[in-house]
Amino acid sequence: MKTTCVNTVTTADVPLQSLDDGWFHHRALRVSVLRLDLLHPVVSGNKWYKLKYNLEAAVQAGCRGVLTFGGPHSNHLAAAAHAARLHGLSSIGVVRGVPQEYSPTLRFCAEEGMQLHFLDREAYAEKSKAPFVQEWQRQFPGCRIIPEGGANEEGRKGAGEIASLLPSDATHVLLSVGSGTTFAGLRNALPASVALLGFVPMKGGAYLQQEIEPWLLPAQKVQWSLTDAYHFGGFGKTSPVLTDFIISIYKRYGLPLDIVYTGKMMFGLREMLAGQAFRDAAHLVCLHTGGLQGNPLSLKQLFSQKESD
Ligand SMILES: *Cc1c(COP(=O)(O)O)cnc(C)c1O
Repeated sequence: MKTTCVNTVTTADVPLQSLDDGWFHHRALRVSVLRLDLLHPVVSGNKWYKLKYNLEAAVQAGCRGVLTFGGPHSNHLAAAAHAARLHGLSSIGVVRGVPQEYSPTLRFCAEEGMQLHFLDREAYAEKSKAPFVQEWQRQFPGCRIIPEGGANEEGRKGAGEIASLLPSDATHVLLSVGSGTTFAGLRNALPASVALLGFVPMKGGAYLQQEIEPWLLPAQKVQWSLTDAYHFGGFGKTSPVLTDFIISIYKRYGLPLDIVYTGKMMFGLREMLAGQAFRDAAHLVCLHTGGLQGNPLSLKQLFSQKESD
């Protein structure tokens, strides 16, 4: 287990796993998965990148802690709680929900020393408006505020660094999208020869198009698109079809996926491949953005079994 978060990531930390065996697809294109989930057991996937410059800024400014936001199953909150502690910073988590309902994610955050504050849905929707922000700063002086999902300049800058881990022959980069921070950061860092495709796991996720646009550097010309066709009923919703798919991918490739983000992306990709959505010579690189901490216990147990079991 890695004990630090601020270091230089190399391709040795993040293997590129090939899925080129004819089962996932049947055409002359290549599919690989960039295993960002293997970066760190907790601060995994894109979360490490989005937090990197936010935490650095907090340390440099002499802050004593960070304050950030998330739902009760938020991978971002779990990652922030752990990464803040590794940086010697305290952490405050502002959570959408009621204090009686401690999810496994929130229990983990509390164990990491994160102080949790709960807001109901209405208040949570206002959490980033000026009066609330002033209130956070009054209540928690010396804390740097990181927006939900790490959705700021520092988050996008960090996410852009994922581009350096991509193989030079990648023609498409596929990733799952939540706040759009990772997507926008990559869009601003990729060469124009690569097309970016985002899978939105929310129902009616088209609103993200407008959220993302102001974050994009006009000089960059990367082709990008979002699809919300594979949301399985909405954010956090699942189905036996999705779970069976995740189990089959694990059995075939030893590739663990999560039910909220990466499972839906890979399911969507399989559908798109069946529909001949890409040209033959393409090399599709899917980002494994992590999220395994949020999986149900049954999948966690399956993924922790030894090969020989
Ligand atoms: C947080 C998360 C995302 C979404 O990242 P954004 O930068 O907020 O779009 C995607 N995949 C996984 C596994 C995540 O945990």
